[in-house]
Amino acid sequence: MRRLPLITYAIIAYMLLAFGWWSVLLLRMNESAHEARVNELAYRLAVQRQIEEPADFRQTEQYFRLTEEFERQQFMILGEAVLLILSLAGGIYLLYRSLKQEISAAEQQRNFLLSITHELKSPLAGIRLILETFQRRKELKPEIQQKLSTNALAETDRLTALVNDLLLSAKLENVFDINPEEIDLGGLIHEAADRVAMKYKTAQLHVDIEPDLPKVIGDRLGLTSVAVNLLENAAKYSQPNPVIHTSLQRGGASEVVWEVSDNGIGVPDREKKRVFTKFYRVGSEDTRTTKGTGLGLFIVRQLVEKHKGQLELLDNEPKGTTFRIYLPVRQDL
Ligand code: ADP
Repeated sequence: MRRLPLITYAIIAYMLLAFGWWSVLLLRMNESAHEARVNELAYRLAVQRQIEEPADFRQTEQYFRLTEEFERQQFMILGEAVLLILSLAGGIYLLYRSLKQEISAAEQQRNFLLSITHELKSPLAGIRLILETFQRRKELKPEIQQKLSTNALAETDRLTALVNDLLLSAKLENVFDINPEEIDLGGLIHEAADRVAMKYKTAQLHVDIEPDLPKVIGDRLGLTSVAVNLLENAAKYSQPNPVIHTSLQRGGASEVVWEVSDNGIGVPDREKKRVFTKFYRVGSEDTRTTKGTGLGLFIVRQLVEKHKGQLELLDNEPKGTTFRIYLPVRQDL
């Protein structure tokens, strides 16, 4: 989060001090005016011989009225000053808050643009290089040809996944409809885990599915996306040796509980809510080394909500992250 320029704080401090100072000045002037009025009263009463001793004027009705009015005015000035300072401080706070939101949204967009440019450019550059190699060196050995084309395919997969994520997140905000069918969620998790294990060779993946679980009514593509996103994140943010556990168990009366835990860097408490917002990534793009767009968890949260489920982000012990999803079994989607 960028800080406001120092001059802003100086102006705010000056305004608050100036208000305080003018209030004190006003109180003092009111005090002097009161003293003058009291002296004038004492003089008038003495001249008109309405009092015997000079000090007696303090017992008169006029003096009581003057004092009463003075106290009311002092109270009014003080009240106005407090109200003004409070409303000024409140206004500044509200302005600051909305400015902070604007800045953070702009920063997220900037991060997104930086990461998406990188994510789009690097597979394209990779594919181009491979095609150029094919063009220049006609007599490539078959095993090299094989290796190069496998790499090119992996790069196109990366691009396809990115484009799919972009489309899915745009759809989820507008027109996404669940395509409900009976799903063996345990089987789906096994398949997703196999896919992620192929991609992250150093990851140890443990899948633990309770036997005889009821089928879930849900969207196959959507739930696959949830599984792959959570498992890939677990692998990505637990380098160099990810140990990932995913389990599916019966929950309360009519739900299943699905967990994905890792032993990685974890998510700090203050970031736990924000990681689910679109394009949000912890830290800044310049310091981050992992690839990503900040769309994965946004997609996961949206999909879980479309399935009328609940999503929790917890700390794993001794380190890492646990995502827990409660998914209703029988439902009207
Ligand atoms: P991406 O992985 O593309 O950056 P996500 O939306 O999937 O985007 O995640 C948002 C952010 O949440 C990530 O950038 C990362 O900082 C944090 N995060 C997500 N999953 C994990 C995890 N398993 N462990 C630690 N941090 C995570």
